[in-house]
Amino acid sequence: MRLFSFIGNFFSMANTKKDTKRTKLTCHRCGTELTPQNSRPVSEEYSITGVSHWCIDCEQEYYERLAAKEGKSFALFHCCAAFNVPCKPFVFKKADYEQNDKLWIYYLDCLEEQGEDIKDDKVLTFFDGETSIRRIFGKNVDQQDFITYIITENSKKMPTLEQRQRWGTDRIWEGMEMTAEVYDALDREYESRKNSFAGQTLTLQQENTLRLVAKNMVIYNFCMRHQQVGHAEKVLKMVDNALASEQMRKKDEKPIEGYELMSQVVALEKAGVMEDGQFLPIDKLQEVLFKKFIKGKKFDYTLDACDGMIEAIWKTMRQNADLFIPDELPEELEIEDTFGEFSEEESDEEKERKKFTGFTKPTFAQTKESAGE
Ligand SMILES: [Zn+2]
Repeated sequence: MRLFSFIGNFFSMANTKKDTKRTKLTCHRCGTELTPQNSRPVSEEYSITGVSHWCIDCEQEYYERLAAKEGKSFALFHCCAAFNVPCKPFVFKKADYEQNDKLWIYYLDCLEEQGEDIKDDKVLTFFDGETSIRRIFGKNVDQQDFITYIITENSKKMPTLEQRQRWGTDRIWEGMEMTAEVYDALDREYESRKNSFAGQTLTLQQENTLRLVAKNMVIYNFCMRHQQVGHAEKVLKMVDNALASEQMRKKDEKPIEGYELMSQVVALEKAGVMEDGQFLPIDKLQEVLFKKFIKGKKFDYTLDACDGMIEAIWKTMRQNADLFIPDELPEELEIEDTFGEFSEEESDEEKERKKFTGFTKPTFAQTKESAGE
């Protein structure tokens, strides 16, 4: 496909010379042996072999990848720069040059045909062609666009509002810029610490401790990177102290701990059912259990409303089963509010709802005994 007389010279010359290592050149990309047909000459100024590093097919493939990204013309300019080939688009005589599906190879052929690749027996380089992208693509490709690009790309790397709210905007360590990377590192440290407590409910205080630890770990890494080993050690000690004060170190927590008698006693004392390692006397214990765990309002409607709901459900069930519906509910469905779990007074909302549902106060059937009382 491409024949250069002096490339042929090189290959035959190499064969006649004793330097046998240079007799076989291969494409640095695909390993194919380079021949005058599948390679091209390169200026001796830039190459000791005088031959392209890649085979022409690999160059064409590279060009196609680039063209898919930025279009055929820009790709051509950049391939010229990358492969050290003069950029002289005017060698395309036909306006339909883009139709060629092997455009890079076609371009090299055009260069050769018009003698634009070699001058005075010297292979031309990128510097011998058009090197100014603006001269080819117009003056709008300018420095200001480049600067705008830098600014836009950097602004993408800004910490998010949530991150700034979470960690604040003050520097956490002198000389440490609060970049997006720092915020990301803080999030990572915090999450990984928190994950090690998965399945446990952390108190607010413990979460604050983890935040403090995350900050200190980021500072620690910064100090280590900047050869501030003394500071790093101090910071690590602070981390340990912070965790110790909340009993959050690995060594503070043993899986068996919850089952140990002492920890159970402590928990029961905290709950108020034990005192000085002894259970309360039974009457006092009952009182505590009743007060703490049983007594107290649990529903924000009256017992009356509860009865009404039960009645409605019971009647509907009987209706659905095609059963006789008596006027009165059976006594076993009656609820007694022994522990004061219901509201004492009807709220306005309850009144409204009762009105809306046409609520009637249920009556209960009396058993013989209760009737006899
Ligand atoms: Zn190759």
